[in-house]
This record gives sequence, structure tokens and C-alpha cells, in this order.
Amino acid sequence: MQFLRRKTFAHGVHPPDNKENTNTKSVRRMAFAPELIIPLSQHFGAPAVPTVYEGQEVVRGEPIAKANGFISIPHHAPATGTIDRIELMQTARGPKTESIILKVTPGASQNVLYGSTREIADMTPQEIISAVQDSGIIGLGGAGFPTHVKLTVPKGHTVDTVLINGCECEPYLTTDHRVMLESVRDLIVGIRIILKSVGAERAIIGIEENKRDAIKAIRARLSPDEAITVRELKTKYPQGAEKILIKTILNREVPSGGYPSSAGVAVYNVSTSSQLGALLPYNQGLIERIVTITGPGVKKPGNYLIALGTPLRFVMEQVGYTGSANHLILGGPMMGTSVASLDVPVTKTVSAVLVLTEQEEAEQIPEKVYPCIKCGACVRACPIHLNPSQLTLLASKRRYGDMQEKFHLNDCFECGCCSYVCPSGIPLVQYFRIAKAVNRENRERIA
Ligand code: SF4
Ligand code: SF4
Repeated sequence: MQFLRRKTFAHGVHPPDNKENTNTKSVRRMAFAPELIIPLSQHFGAPAVPTVYEGQEVVRGEPIAKANGFISIPHHAPATGTIDRIELMQTARGPKTESIILKVTPGASQNVLYGSTREIADMTPQEIISAVQDSGIIGLGGAGFPTHVKLTVPKGHTVDTVLINGCECEPYLTTDHRVMLESVRDLIVGIRIILKSVGAERAIIGIEENKRDAIKAIRARLSPDEAITVRELKTKYPQGAEKILIKTILNREVPSGGYPSSAGVAVYNVSTSSQLGALLPYNQGLIERIVTITGPGVKKPGNYLIALGTPLRFVMEQVGYTGSANHLILGGPMMGTSVASLDVPVTKTVSAVLVLTEQEEAEQIPEKVYPCIKCGACVRACPIHLNPSQLTLLASKRRYGDMQEKFHLNDCFECGCCSYVCPSGIPLVQYFRIAKAVNRENRERIA
């Protein structure tokens, strides 16, 4: 019964959503840059292996690097051109990464020149999963986990429900919103592909109530006997996080350290699902993605379809930004990361570029950090009921092991709610990132 359905979760925060600059702007394709940089590692897992040589001519959509094992993906040429070189290049992920540099043929066609049609209905779940790996699709919400791995239900688990995350709860971001308005057909085809792959009976698309036009657009395309339904959810951050969405929609708990399949669920982002629907029936690879470019520092904010590998410098020129990388954030203000250089490329995980002004940036970074006053605001904000204040106390004493063993540090998915509400300006989430990295290193040393 509709009135008994849960629409939200306990805790979380309500930051201003700042989506009005781009949420009504249709997706526009950006021109090709003269040179594209395709890092072999844009995802969680082993880097891809190049299958091209310097000087080789390739056409748009042609595979140029193959997956290196199961937890890996291939890459495809985002434009027709010539392989210029393969060398270490800077990326937004941090260390230099081996990358394929493609010189784009002047006037190259925007049409995809590679692939062939196929009937998904004739394919087995295993064939579909293998085809998803061949397409190079990863979680486009930013996590970067290979989608074919997420479609593989672990042995001993069963998935009865697929949840599609259409919340887009991060402020400023509007790519998923536009996908739900402009690519409904691809989205529905993609969700049917997912249902078949994981063997689930139903899919529920969770969408926040600040996107009622998208809810309406999708419902209008679903037949009454469809296994897919839409659930309207409250606008609250981080509504779209996997465990939160599962709790809100299904009232199921994923155990600490467990996977959604432990609760009989699989969760996918709407942009990822839509790309499955767009690419798989045509045997094509992921070569471009929609990126929201927004913020007060941009003259032409919008949702742009950008060839993967396009240097950020080129992107920013196209939207009328002439400043440095200092004010740029890849992703949203809550979970995004700052950019060290404009020479890094747009990769599969870049959902947004947020350009702040100096003033906005100063507002985000407190001038001074004060001691914890034990106000409990961070505890009340944490959506998974951790104790961020206690975790920070342990971090200050470098008791990183205790943070995990006694206070479930690894369950923290770095949503930033605790830092957002802290009146003392303590960058709690940064402490947690450092602690996790140290624990990871220690584990690797022991192994
Ligand atoms: S960053 Fe981690 S500890 Fe802080 S609110 Fe989010 S999940 Fe909780
Ligand atoms: S919100 Fe900040 S000041 Fe308040 S208890 Fe948490 S860490 Fe301490």
C-alpha cells in the first residue's frame, strides 16, 4: 500500500541541491579534442592491456585494449584516428597511469563505426555477462566497479530484487536526471538485461521527489504487467548509497562487510543501466559519457556528452572557463575529489565537473579547525549509525586497527555527512580515508 511505503532513511543531511543551472538542460554532444588520452586503468581491478601499436589507425568504437582477467575491462577508441603513443600520463586518480594517446582524424565522424546487432533474448545470462565485460561498462555513478562483476551473483546467493538508483542525491549533479528524461527506452532495455542476468523477478527504480518529471516520464513508458516499477523517495543525502537504498525501499539490512546479494538484492545506477540498454544490443563498447559541468565559475553550464579521454583543459575551454585547476572538483561537493591539473582526461567514472569560485571554495573549507565539543551532530548525521566522533578520536591516536575492529571503519562509505555537520570544522572523512589506507597497507604487508 503506497501510504505505508518507506520514502527515506534515518539520519543523513539536506544540503542545498543547486541543480537548477543544469537540470532542465538537454544533453549536448561536445566536439572531439585533437588528442584523446585513454588510461588503461579507469576502473576497479587490473588495468587493461593495449592491443594496438603506435601508428595504427583505428575507427570509432574499435577495441584498443583488452581486459586482463575477470576483474578488468577493455577499452575502445572514442574517435577515429591514429594511435600516437602509449605512455605514462597523469590522471585524476593520482599516480601516472599507462595510457593510449589517440590523435583524432580532423573532421572525424561522430557515428560509431564498429559493432553489429544481436538479439539479447537469445543469449544466456552467462553470455550476457561476458558481453557486458566486452563492452567495457563500469558503474557510471562514480564507483568504477566493472558491471559484469556486479552482474555475477556470488555462489550460494540469490537475487530476487534489482534496485535501480535514480536518486542522484549529490548536489549539483544532473546527468542521471537527464538520462531518465531523455533515454527512457535504453534505461528500460538495460534493466531487462540486468533482470535476466541476475535472475531476479522485479526491479524498482528509486527516484527522489525533486525529479518528478523523470518519475512521470518513466512511468508513462511502463506497462501495468511490467516487472519494473518506480518508487518516489524523499530528497535527502545520501539516499542513493547502496545500503541506504536497500534499507529505504526494501527494509532489508546488508550485514557489515557483506554484499547487497547477502540481502537478495543487486543495485545499479540509472546511467549504467541505460548504457547497457544502448550498447549491448549493438555489440558496442563504452566510448563516451554524459558529464554535468556546472558551478558558479562556468559560463556555459550543462550536461555534455563527452568522448572518453578528452582532456579537461579542452572541456573547460568549450564551456568558457579560463581559470586554473584549483577550483575544480570531479564529482559533487560531498564525495567529489579535487583536480591537480587540467591535463587529466575525462574517464568512465567522471560524472561531473564542479567549478567553484574562490569565495565558494573558502566557504567549503573552514578557516580553522576547533577541538571536538562532543555535540553528537556527526553521530546523528551518519546514515549507517557509526560513531564518527569516536573514530576521529582513535585516528588522532593512530589506533587505526581499533577503528576497524571495534568501530567498523570499513563500513564507512565516505559520504561526508559527518564532516558537513561538524561545527568544529573537523575534516572527519579525511581521517577515515587515511586510516583505511594505513590498514590496507598493513594487511598487504602481512599477506
Ligand atoms: S563519512 Fe562515514 S562516518 Fe561519516 S557520515 Fe558518512 S558513513 Fe558515517
Ligand atoms: S560533530 Fe564535530 S564537534 Fe560534534 S561530536 Fe562530531 S566531531 Fe565532535
